[in-house]
Amino acid sequence: MVSSSVLGFPRIGAKRELKKATEAYWSGKKSVEELLKVGKEIRETNWKLQKEAGVDIIPSNDFSFYDQVLDASLLFNVIPDRYTKYDLSEIDLYFAMARGLQRQATETSKKVDVTALEMVKWFDSNYHYVRPTFSKSTEFKLTGAKPVDQYLEAKALGIETRPVLIGPVSFLYLGKADKDSLDLEPISLLDKLLPVYVELLKKLAAVGVKSVQIDEPILVLDLPEKIHGAFQKAYKYFSEQKDIPEIVVASYFGTVVPNLAAIKGLPVAGFHVDLVRAPEQLNDVAAILSDKQVLSVGVVNGRNIWKNDFAKSTKIVEAAIAKLGADRVIVATSSSLLHTPVDLDNESKLTEEVKDSFSFAKQKLYEVTVIAKKVSGKDVAAAYEANAKSIAGRANSTKINNQAVQKRTAAITNKLATRAAPFTERLKEQIPVFKLPLFPTTTIGSFPQTKEIRVTRNKFQKGAISAQQYEDFINKQIEEAIKIQEDIGLDVLVEGEASRSDMVFFFAEQLDGYQFTENGWVQSYGSRYVRAPIIYGDVSRPKPMTLRETVYAQSLTTKPVKGMLTGPVTMLRWSFPRDDLDQKTQANQISLALRDEVSDLEAAGIKVIQVDEPALREGLPLRAGAERDDYYEWAAKAFRISTSSVANKTQIHSHFCYSDLDPNHIKALDADVVSIEFSKKDDANYIAEFKNYPNHIGLGLFDIHSPRIPSTEEFIEKIGKILESYPAEKFWVNPDCGLKTRGWPETIASLTHMVEAAKYYREKYAEKK
Ligand SMILES: [Zn+2]
Repeated sequence: MVSSSVLGFPRIGAKRELKKATEAYWSGKKSVEELLKVGKEIRETNWKLQKEAGVDIIPSNDFSFYDQVLDASLLFNVIPDRYTKYDLSEIDLYFAMARGLQRQATETSKKVDVTALEMVKWFDSNYHYVRPTFSKSTEFKLTGAKPVDQYLEAKALGIETRPVLIGPVSFLYLGKADKDSLDLEPISLLDKLLPVYVELLKKLAAVGVKSVQIDEPILVLDLPEKIHGAFQKAYKYFSEQKDIPEIVVASYFGTVVPNLAAIKGLPVAGFHVDLVRAPEQLNDVAAILSDKQVLSVGVVNGRNIWKNDFAKSTKIVEAAIAKLGADRVIVATSSSLLHTPVDLDNESKLTEEVKDSFSFAKQKLYEVTVIAKKVSGKDVAAAYEANAKSIAGRANSTKINNQAVQKRTAAITNKLATRAAPFTERLKEQIPVFKLPLFPTTTIGSFPQTKEIRVTRNKFQKGAISAQQYEDFINKQIEEAIKIQEDIGLDVLVEGEASRSDMVFFFAEQLDGYQFTENGWVQSYGSRYVRAPIIYGDVSRPKPMTLRETVYAQSLTTKPVKGMLTGPVTMLRWSFPRDDLDQKTQANQISLALRDEVSDLEAAGIKVIQVDEPALREGLPLRAGAERDDYYEWAAKAFRISTSSVANKTQIHSHFCYSDLDPNHIKALDADVVSIEFSKKDDANYIAEFKNYPNHIGLGLFDIHSPRIPSTEEFIEKIGKILESYPAEKFWVNPDCGLKTRGWPETIASLTHMVEAAKYYREKYAEKK
């Protein structure tokens, strides 16, 4: 009998119970006992679901109140000194590391003011993990027994589980050195860390754990040889210990083949590989296994919402069985199901046809078990027949196939993705149109989403106010935003985006080809969950999306108003993409829809149009090489398809956040002006990289995540520093990002100071001439 296995289950609860409980705890409305109780209930529900679905290998220790990597930092005592001096309770220490803590002194406790640890993206997913932060004073030891406790908790329910641990090599490699120990290389701490892992493994074995899943996801990255050696060392060390559980090393989100040297000959019970993302690795991985090692084959996608194609998955599993024998193969999810919504049964508004093509975490449990039964020779004919029908139904659906879109996408040429003239010539035509001063000032697009705006939008969506009433309300917001920007003295204005709830949802809702869920939440970080729209079929634009508001704003002022759009790559990355069409073609379809919007805006008299691509960096394939080069090419081209229809004198802007982007790749977009999040970078080297960037740039001058108001002097100093290595004639002045999460008072004050600083430099440079 071939076993079935799940690598991890969503921890947020089907109704977002975890979010409600943690936020209530943070605001003092729930006690720690109440919070812990909710965690326990979610774990129990998840385990029982998996048991009922017939999953053979059920994970434990996959639950976390914030992030599983942070759990490991706490467990192994990787706690920077700045968090330990306040005598915080364990849970408060944990949340302080996760999100920072500011608390006034009371009779019983000290004043606390500590910032959060760094949080970064988990590989190429939208999940974020808290980076382990090591210093020379880090002393590894076990501070608790969460994996043991949670294993016993499941056992008390009569459910045997396999604890999941982040592996020692990935834990160190994904971490960083703390400020006080910058020359420390975390991987150099391996020798000190391993005995603590062993202590934990022995404790697990002592309570009856037979097998552990040790995640080493870095196996899909480009790794230096030194790290290969670290794998060999760590797992050899484990194999020399007595009384520890057997170990299955898990990787996901790519192929391990370039790192076979790291895992070849490792004395472990077996490996898990992701055969959804990299089916081609099967032969090479199977070839290095010893004749007792098992292979867990990930064929049910842990990253998307589509129903599994049983026929396709079965073929892959059968190929593995042909090589290794049925007793050495396990059918598994490709990764943890953390990245999928919890339960499709909670969706009441999708049509039967659409619903029939989806599978969320709970449904994926059944997929894993049914495939395992099939390859074990059990009769699952009815399930396979129904699945084949669903898959065929989707392929032929009229909701998916739009001939006109397919024809237009197939006809894309390089010319379509190229502006009529190069930047230098365009600039000559733009100068007399805009007559902008030196150091032109602008914002990134959104203004504060006040409570009034949210409440009114809600009323409109519920039908409590009419479309006309809502339009009047939005117009009033636009009028105020334009007035405020004129008073401040900004040069290029925006309509303020009062009508937009979210930069992806707003457009997705107006495009054909998208579907939306009511409860399809996925954890992004901590208590922040995202309900991404789903690209269901060919995408097209039935009618203009932003024209009315933008044209209305322009009618109120003689200054240019920027049209604001979300770019094709970001629309793709922040949605669930299709699995039946390559990402490039999906991006191209969206880019054509945006191209029509850009043309409509231009025809209506809008002279500046910004197409944002904040997700450009995160779409980057994990490994250097052909796939990454290819991505850069099609991503930049998709952007240019959407922006190249305009005349030379129309100015195209773009914007990026958290972008460690190579200037060469930004250059490939050929935008006239780009703005980049920069205020926290403050890095002379990074500015220098842009020295040869030919077009114009605004490096973000203040952090929009903080209500702090920088003074005029601070802006002057900041601009001065950038000017040391960056030419004045290419210099735009703007904040880091949109201001929708801010309040008006600090927004007005910060922008006023920013504009004053720009004026200071204008005068200074006028004197020079
Ligand atoms: Zn941004």
